[in-house]
Amino acid sequence: MSVLSAPYFHDADAARVELERTLWPAGPVCPRCAGKERITAVKGGRAGLYRCGPCKRQFTVTVGTVFEASHVPLNLWLQAVFLMCSSKKGISSHQLMRVLDVQYRTAWFMSHRIREAMRSGDLAPFGSGGGIVEVDETFIGTDRSIKPHGDKKVRGVGHKHKVLSLVDRTTGRKQSMVVDSLKATDVAAILKANIAAEAHIMTDEAPYYRGIGAHFASHEFTRHTAGEYVSRSNPTIHTNTIEGAFSIFKRGMKGIYQHCSKKHLHRYVAEFDFRYSNRAKLGMDDEQRTVTALKGIVGKRLTYRSAYPA
Ligand SMILES: [Zn+2]
Repeated sequence: MSVLSAPYFHDADAARVELERTLWPAGPVCPRCAGKERITAVKGGRAGLYRCGPCKRQFTVTVGTVFEASHVPLNLWLQAVFLMCSSKKGISSHQLMRVLDVQYRTAWFMSHRIREAMRSGDLAPFGSGGGIVEVDETFIGTDRSIKPHGDKKVRGVGHKHKVLSLVDRTTGRKQSMVVDSLKATDVAAILKANIAAEAHIMTDEAPYYRGIGAHFASHEFTRHTAGEYVSRSNPTIHTNTIEGAFSIFKRGMKGIYQHCSKKHLHRYVAEFDFRYSNRAKLGMDDEQRTVTALKGIVGKRLTYRSAYPA
């Protein structure tokens, strides 16, 4: 049977029940006081409306989530989440607009809310327990805020957005940051904030990684300029894992999303990190990835104004 024939993709009430089952496996939880006791269905109220006895607040499963105050039926939300979770290189807002039969603005706003749900909260530092963390950077799009100085042209990748990424080889997770600078001191500060001191770091020979070994258990690097992609003396020394992840990210950003301003780039980056960290190779299928994204809708209410400033 097609996964798309599930009732919760076609009926708003079935979608609400499915979302309740996903977010409240042990029954309704009050979004204000987090209480689970003395919660009752509101008599004469619509299905899915509950009342918390202690704080007397009425709520539904979407209160305090990125779906709150949306006029889009919940079954369409579940379709959109499934499509974004099952499309390896992403799905454009135009495609979403056509599939869901909604306005472009609605599709655009939905996909940004879903990216917000995909954004991971506080993760344990990468490389906890002494694992290997690959670190690399990639350059994408055009940063229009960078102006040439005088008549000196911005050369090479100087005018592009900079994304710094980490992959934990033990957990398979990826985390990326849009950064303004790749100065050695800035890179070191970011790595120290996100990677455990006991981790072993693998990079290429880029100058901004020099000296980071002082903060971690070890730092090894390959010499790409000398044609070395895997260390000849020690084949565990390479950044091939993270380079594979970058190739999916770049194909998606180029082929699917095409244009992206710096203002929104961090959200696209979170979307690709999410799918990579929950990829099939780590044992996740499309449905499990969708459930994981749905669990991420809680506590991240995004207003129209913050997502779509005039
Ligand atoms: Zn309450």
